[in-house]
Amino acid sequence: MALLEVKDLEVGFGLRSGEVKALRNISFSLERGERLGVVGESGAGKSVLGFAILNLLSRPGYISNGEISFEGKNLADLSAAELRSVRGNRISMIFQDPMMTLNPVLTIGEQMVECLLAHHKISKQDARKIALQKLQQVYIPSPETRLDQYPHELSGGMRQRIVIAIGLLMDPDIIIADEPTTALDVTIQAEIMELMLELCERNNVALILITHDLGVVSQVTQKTIVMYAGRIIEQGPTKEIINDAQHPYTQGLMNALPQMGIPGQRLNQIRGSMPPLQRIPTGCAFNPRCNYVMESCKHNLPEFTQSGGCQVACHMVAEMKREEQAARLQSQEVGQE
Ligand code: SF4
Repeated sequence: MALLEVKDLEVGFGLRSGEVKALRNISFSLERGERLGVVGESGAGKSVLGFAILNLLSRPGYISNGEISFEGKNLADLSAAELRSVRGNRISMIFQDPMMTLNPVLTIGEQMVECLLAHHKISKQDARKIALQKLQQVYIPSPETRLDQYPHELSGGMRQRIVIAIGLLMDPDIIIADEPTTALDVTIQAEIMELMLELCERNNVALILITHDLGVVSQVTQKTIVMYAGRIIEQGPTKEIINDAQHPYTQGLMNALPQMGIPGQRLNQIRGSMPPLQRIPTGCAFNPRCNYVMESCKHNLPEFTQSGGCQVACHMVAEMKREEQAARLQSQEVGQE
């Protein structure tokens, strides 16, 4: 049984102008200790997915279809208290901006102790000891001193380490990290990603890493989901996706990565931008931006085609696979004659 299983998840937003779908047909699973990257540009639905898993969607957003199961139990069937316990103890979330997690008027120690006391029947002294251990785990220098400091007294990188320490407080099974390094300097970004990788491996914690950066995903995750306009358009082993992206959108994201050792080279951006939810094109939502668009792309939604270890939602890939199969059959027939 998978640790987390998402099946046909659909999220709607009830707007005055009518309902729009922010997520459609999202299905994937996550095993214990596994690291999954969720990639796409802003507006692809990545963060909505993170909030939906935690049942933290704020109105007018709501889960309109599908199932999210944790250790085989559908989260929709849990009581409010059970759900709070899963959210607090078993699945935790790390946000892009540490100040979204940290309370500016409480010291780091007060926040961590408060969090522990809300979930465990332990003394304040014991809670402070656990908080100290967690700060040591994320390599915070002078952890004793930091416990008595306020968030504004710390650097951005240090604040994000503390947010990770808070994320680890309850020894969760899954951490959902939403762009955890975007607000940081490039050198600090690499340190934080290395730290997350080390902590997940050491504690056998599963990670859902939400990011716009395929480069980060390639360093940390084993599986990747690429999202566009609220749908998964390619998913599979990260190595395969990085080395041989099949979907034109994934290829565009790869080409947009800065190339090492080529100074002055212009970045290849994907032309156009992500469509707003109210105006998602019919057929393949990527068709107005795609260099390989065919007539059928404008009318028919592409279904998943298996290509190696990946699933790809693209008419062109489906056609190529059909042609490959036909060629194979033909050569087998010739061989038998
Ligand atoms: Fe491009 Fe068509 Fe594939 Fe969409 S389905 S990515 S428009 S080739």
